[in-house]
Amino acid sequence: MSLEPCNVCGVLNAEGTEICLSCGYPTTGNKRSAIFRWVAIALIICFALPFLSGLINWILLQLKPDPPSNQPKVSLIQK
Ligand SMILES: [Zn+2]
Repeated sequence: MSLEPCNVCGVLNAEGTEICLSCGYPTTGNKRSAIFRWVAIALIICFALPFLSGLINWILLQLKPDPPSNQPKVSLIQK
């Protein structure tokens, strides 16, 4: 009988153990890690979407041909 490290917490468990004695998660961690991976991807998308929309708005503002800051510069030149 050999020992295998838990993929979730790293504690050594007996070979063939399905549930880790230390953390209670499956030692292979396949099902839970897959769920956590999808949750992490969903969270990243939720955080990235507002950032991307703000970035797109900023780019559209930069592409505008007439920024409103021209008028004070003109008045300074005519001084
Ligand atoms: Zn564990």
